[in-house]
Amino acid sequence: MSRIAYVNGQYVPHALAQVHIEDRGYQFADGVYEVCLVVDGKYWDLDGHLARLKRSLDELQIAMPMSENALRVVMDNVRKRNHLPSAMIYIQVTRGVAPRNHIFPVGLKPSLVMTVKPFDLDQSDAKAAKGIRVITQPDIRWGRTDIKSTGLLANAMAKHAASEVGAGEALLIRDGHITECSSSNAWIIDKDGVLITHPKSHEILSGITRETAKACAQELQLNVVERPFTLDEVKAASEMFLTSASSVVMPVIGVDSFKIGDGTPGPITKRLRESYKARARAL
Ligand code: PMP
Repeated sequence: MSRIAYVNGQYVPHALAQVHIEDRGYQFADGVYEVCLVVDGKYWDLDGHLARLKRSLDELQIAMPMSENALRVVMDNVRKRNHLPSAMIYIQVTRGVAPRNHIFPVGLKPSLVMTVKPFDLDQSDAKAAKGIRVITQPDIRWGRTDIKSTGLLANAMAKHAASEVGAGEALLIRDGHITECSSSNAWIIDKDGVLITHPKSHEILSGITRETAKACAQELQLNVVERPFTLDEVKAASEMFLTSASSVVMPVIGVDSFKIGDGTPGPITKRLRESYKARARAL
C-alpha cells in the first residue's frame, strides 16, 4: 500500500511529495516541527505538542498555517489514509517560499507538510525491557534549542556518532553539565531515589513527554528536582532514563564505557514507564 503525505493542502503519494527549492526550510532551516505519537487511534499528549508548535512558531514570527482544530483534522486524515492506528506523525511548518534573502519576508504563506510512519508499542516495550546504551558528545548546538527548529545538523551528528558505536543515543554536555540528548530529554535517579533533569531553559527542548513524566512521578510520590547535573553524577546515579514521544520512558543501562546501576533497567524507571502508558491510555 503506498504511503500518503500531506503537502500544502494536498494528500499526495509519498514518493511524489515535493516542496519548492526556495522554501526557506530548505535554504535556512527556517521552520519548526513536531512529532506526535498515536497509539490505537489515541493521541498521546497532543494538546502539549500543538501548544509547543504554536510557541516555536511564535518565537520565529511564523504564522500558524491553519487553526489548531484544522491541524488535528489533517493529522487524523493523513494517519487514516495510511491505515495506521498506531503511528508517529511528523508535522513541519516552514516560513514559506520566497527568493533567497536572510531577512524574513513579510506576508509569506507558511508551508505545511505532514508524514506518518508506523509505531509499535510492543516493540518499544521490548526495547525498554533491555534498555539502551548512550555515549557522551559535546553539545555544539545553537543557543535556542528550546525552539523545535528543523536545524538539526548538530543533533544528527551526535546521534550518528552514537550509532557508529552501536549506542542508541548521544548524551550532550555543555559547560560541564548534561543538557539533554540528541532527540530526547535526559534524567538520572540518585541514590536517594530523587529524579533529576535539566530545568526548562534556552539550553534544552522542553519535552512534552518530560512534562507528563513529571506528573507521573508526582503521582508515584517521587521527588523531581529540575537542575543541571554533571557526568560524575550520571556515573554515580542508580538509574537513568530518557523521555521523548517516540521512546516514551526509555531506560539507559550504560554511558560510554560505564554501567548505570547494575547495568539493567532500574525499578523506578520501569514503574514510571508503566505509569506513563496507563495515564496516556486513560486520557
Ligand atoms: N530534546 C530533543 C532535542 C528532541 O528532539 C526531543 C524530541 N523531539 C525531545 C527532547 C523530547 O521531546 P518530546 O518529549 O516532546 O518528544
